[in-house]
Amino acid sequence: MTVVAIDGPAGSGKSTLARSLAHALGFLYLDTGAMYRALALAAHRAGIAPEDAERLVQLAQQVDIRFEADGETQRVLLNGEDVSEAIRTPEISDLASRIAVHAGVRRAMVALQRALAAHAHGVVAEGRDTTTVVFPDAAVKLYLDASPHERACRRQHQLRQQGIEAPYEQVLQAILERDARDAARADSPLRIAEDAIVIQNDGWSKEQTFEYALRLCRERLGVP
Ligand code: C5P
Repeated sequence: MTVVAIDGPAGSGKSTLARSLAHALGFLYLDTGAMYRALALAAHRAGIAPEDAERLVQLAQQVDIRFEADGETQRVLLNGEDVSEAIRTPEISDLASRIAVHAGVRRAMVALQRALAAHAHGVVAEGRDTTTVVFPDAAVKLYLDASPHERACRRQHQLRQQGIEAPYEQVLQAILERDARDAARADSPLRIAEDAIVIQNDGWSKEQTFEYALRLCRERLGVP
């Protein structure tokens, strides 16, 4: 199995890039953030507090989280229910990063991620530990980054497209808080793998990031 792993902070464009790369390379797209989000939604519905590691781990071992192809995108299924939109709210973003600090939760999620990938001949995995923990032997490791201002503007735009109006300061604050929590946690903190290629994409369009990354992948993987 060939793995392209993409890491980076909130709003750096990981999802957009990973989806396009997976499509271009004919690989499975593994959105690990969506899995933490789906678990967060399940916990929220079950009334489990984000600090309750024990019940969260139990839940992580019980829930059925799957992806279903939908044209060029994919749907996220939680126990068979399509939760693709429900997991993209600011509340679930925050909750996902709170539950992701627990080592037991991460172990369960990593096992599930590897199991999903095992069936594919190629995978583009995206998320904040995919290059360091989930797939440390990935053939290509990319670390996407952009300034907090740029990332907040992108996130605000994304939320607007979902019909959610959020003030810039609030979006920026949420991003900075999530960055801090992801970088400070004891288990699998957000960090740049030694052999990762850093792509600082301030001022770049999605297409520019994609073209650049695709060229890198093709070079590294030796595919035309
Ligand atoms: O990437 P996305 O914003 O969808 O991820 C939501 C949250 O899930 C992140 O803020 C992070 O705390 C957590 N996460 C993680 N490890 C991953 C993917 C996501 O801890 N591999």
